[in-house]
Amino acid sequence: MRSAIVLLSLWAAAAAAEPRALVRAARVLDVQKGTWSADQGIVVAGGRIESVLPFAQARSGAPDAAIIDLGDLSVLPGFADCHAHLLGNLKDISAIGSLRMSSAQGAIWGVSNLKEWLDRGFTTVRDAGEIDGAYGQFALREGVARGFIQGPRIYAAGSYVTVTGGHGDANQLAADQRLDRFNLADTPDAVATVVRRDLKYGADWIKLMGTGGIVDPFSDYTREELSDEQIARAVEVAHRAGRRVMVHAEGTGGIKAAVRAGVDSIEHGTMLDEEGAALMEKGGTWLVPTLYTFQYGAEQGEKLGLEPVMLAKVRRIISAQGPAFKRAIAHHLRIVFGLDNSPDLLPREFAALVRGGMTPLQAIQAATINAQEMLGHADEAGSIAKGKVADLVAVRGDPTRDVSALENVVFVMKEGAVVKDARASVPAPKGEHPMIMRVWHGWTKTKDAEEYNRLLRDEILPGIHRIKGYGGSWVLRRAAGDEVEFVTITTWDSWAAIEEFAGKGRTKSVIHPKAAHLLTRHDEQSVHFDAAWVP
Ligand SMILES: [Zn+2]
Repeated sequence: MRSAIVLLSLWAAAAAAEPRALVRAARVLDVQKGTWSADQGIVVAGGRIESVLPFAQARSGAPDAAIIDLGDLSVLPGFADCHAHLLGNLKDISAIGSLRMSSAQGAIWGVSNLKEWLDRGFTTVRDAGEIDGAYGQFALREGVARGFIQGPRIYAAGSYVTVTGGHGDANQLAADQRLDRFNLADTPDAVATVVRRDLKYGADWIKLMGTGGIVDPFSDYTREELSDEQIARAVEVAHRAGRRVMVHAEGTGGIKAAVRAGVDSIEHGTMLDEEGAALMEKGGTWLVPTLYTFQYGAEQGEKLGLEPVMLAKVRRIISAQGPAFKRAIAHHLRIVFGLDNSPDLLPREFAALVRGGMTPLQAIQAATINAQEMLGHADEAGSIAKGKVADLVAVRGDPTRDVSALENVVFVMKEGAVVKDARASVPAPKGEHPMIMRVWHGWTKTKDAEEYNRLLRDEILPGIHRIKGYGGSWVLRRAAGDEVEFVTITTWDSWAAIEEFAGKGRTKSVIHPKAAHLLTRHDEQSVHFDAAWVP
């Protein structure tokens, strides 16, 4: 106890001494309301968000903070993928693949995989179960938490709880070949035993295989596999330990059985019917629909090496997916983002959710506030607000209008640490010079200087700052007889951006209406440079 107190106070001291960062953002998404706030400053300290304020106000409150200027990018909270499989080579789904990979190899692949999730803005993942008897997913979770490896925060299920010959029975060998697999359970008591094994070694979630599935040669996805009693026993044991239960359920009967047993989330729900949707709505059961992995399998399965029997299954079930998802939306089910595939496909799940009937904002909410609520961490993460962990993602464009903007993640911060920064590699628009400098001289009477100064800082330059293609600005002033000369220097990355601001064919002389009466005279030059930025 004594050492715990010492450690805690050391941590608090370190957090206090840590330098603060001030993230400047042209726009920040309020993910609950779906509104953007312009020119914001996010003060980050000790891995958390200390404040979110208009930039000038944030700056004066944190004058010592190092500024991270995100220019014209749009800033969102970090995303969560709530149906991930982290271990091994995620591009190899062949039956032999897992047999040739040791637990240690699978975990090292996992280290590499985690980076891919981070690169796409996913700062949280829920592992939806593995077949690794050594629980490599828990090792990854601990490695990230201790800072040994870089990756999203991990919440992890244990091994698949499945009946013999069910969707999670990863032994596809002939009857007279031997292979040890974990968590096969054919009675309620056997379920209790394997659930306890998962909990003993650190499972945050229990993963049940409620029905058959696609990627195995023997199961029937329309059939219930675990019995009602088995599912109920798993829920009882897990909930008593304060952990949650997720259920792979594709056929209508299995979905309803799992919901009636009180599970926390339904995975896939591919054949959800009216009765099932009504049950889920009433019970508040979460749905993780994993739409794209089915679409991808049905279209590309041959190339991916899916066996013919699996390819036939995915091509049959896909016709049920669209109507089922529409039912889920009509019943206002609580929907959470989950990919269930290799992380290079993450942006495509956003697109699939929108094609399926969600608005872009709802798809973003599925990966942020909804996900964190399901995980039980909505007070900690999922939105950009004071006190929450500093998980930020920056993209070009407006993803609440077009989710394809999420394909190009430029910047990622996780718990206050910059884990991706591709700002310098953002190319200048094609055929344009990389930097254009506008120099504007305006003269005011001495008595008007303060008012003009305020106008420049508070209204004119921040207004320019929100224009696409703009790079930064300076304000200089000096006395010139009974006048004060103001020099503003602004940088742009294209003539088109200047024209967007000043009007077609014009690259000079725009006077802000509020400033006109303060100016005695003015002149301006706009000149291009071939520039190199040295950070
Ligand atoms: Zn899965």
